[in-house]
Amino acid sequence: MLVIGLGKSGRASVAILQPRCASVIATDEKDPEALRETLAEIAALGVAFVPPAELDAAFAGITAAVLSPGIPLNGALVRRVQDAGIPVYSEVEVAYRIARAPIVAVTGTKGKTTTTALVGHLFATAGRHTFVGGNIGNPLIAETAVAPADAWVIAEVSSFQLESIRSFKPRVSLILNISPDHLDRYHSMDEYAFAKFRIFANQNAGDTFVGNLDDPRVGALAALEPDDDRVRIRARALWFSNAPHRQSTLYIRNGTTIAYAPPTGDPRPIDIMPVADIPLLGKHNVENAMGAMLVGLAAGLDPLVVAEAVRSFKPLAHRLQTVGEIDGITYVDDSKATNPGAVIAALEAFTRPVILIAGGRGKGTAFDELGTAIGKHAKALILIGEAADAIGAHVSGIPVERAESMALAVAAARARADAGDVILLSPGCASFDMFASAEARGDAFAAAANAGARV
Ligand code: ADP
Repeated sequence: MLVIGLGKSGRASVAILQPRCASVIATDEKDPEALRETLAEIAALGVAFVPPAELDAAFAGITAAVLSPGIPLNGALVRRVQDAGIPVYSEVEVAYRIARAPIVAVTGTKGKTTTTALVGHLFATAGRHTFVGGNIGNPLIAETAVAPADAWVIAEVSSFQLESIRSFKPRVSLILNISPDHLDRYHSMDEYAFAKFRIFANQNAGDTFVGNLDDPRVGALAALEPDDDRVRIRARALWFSNAPHRQSTLYIRNGTTIAYAPPTGDPRPIDIMPVADIPLLGKHNVENAMGAMLVGLAAGLDPLVVAEAVRSFKPLAHRLQTVGEIDGITYVDDSKATNPGAVIAALEAFTRPVILIAGGRGKGTAFDELGTAIGKHAKALILIGEAADAIGAHVSGIPVERAESMALAVAAARARADAGDVILLSPGCASFDMFASAEARGDAFAAAANAGARV
């Protein structure tokens, strides 16, 4: 077995596969000097490191390869391995193959981490032995390796990981939404959507697919009589929607109450909880919560327990997280909003005037729709990073400024804010032009916000 890439997930794969496979070797394109500690770690496990340049000689002894989530399938190294006739699987695929516990898999363009955490919270609150992994925290393989058969593994999976699955078959799958993102990696929205649809490709009648009926690309699956295998759902399909619909199992009644029409047994709808009790900001988070709730209900959790568990869920950091209330101004860190759709969702979550800080490294998405939403919902816009001009070009009717650092952006926003306003960091872009990560960007925003308090 060849492990490609020695990041967190690759290292977990090495440690877990070594005792299970006859032989494991690892490779990575990084400079061996930068990998020194990792190489010592894998050597201690008895796993040999083979630099990419020397891999060809080892191909004959390799039966399969595991790919870390961050490495593109179409890169030169992966292609060389495939050209040698070696199947390349994502870490998620291997995690599935060694799993004893059933898996809940959550995907979507946005809301994955929030929803995965919430599903985990629902299952744990309901007394299920629960393991949560994937993009959200520990590599999935580290969780499935230890979860016993009577537990549940809740997995956050990305389209990249789903691209190279083969038999991955979650007991329950969930697609929250599909909006433009990663178009620097996919040729088209269709190609990106098909990657996400892989989540249900291997499911069958004993499994459940949960989908958001209101999302155009996901909801379209409900109406299809597909002759195309890529969009065929063989699992029981359950839908949630923001209004009653004959296909919906979970929906909002009268705009105020989440109602559940059980798919089996007595179909009379029961009220589960008021929408207002969801402890997260914004309409998009109502969708995330409903997706999570329907997954829980599909797995047999008690509706009352599900409602109680939603009420006690704590919002995650850097996702519409309030990080300061200073001089009547609320500072909200939404640094994890890395595509335009997430920013639009964030803007729509507030009824108070919003001064938006946006920009960063674009990911090939268009900014026209975002620009219109900013013009409609924001009081002023402060732009940062490489995509500043590209975003600014689509915004009219409000003041727009450019700032060279987060501290200057916050200062510029503060200069335009009145008591009662919100200063929102919701960049719509990746962070890597100015920061090591989206978390670091959010921390810089919170630090600048709170530093202002002392001036
Ligand atoms: P992901 O893991 O898919 O990136 P997160 O839960 O980490 O999603 O949320 C990332 C950002 O996306 C947050 O800033 C949040 O405001 C926004 N977001 C969350 N859920 C949705 C949704 N359903 N639709 C649009 N934007 C969303």
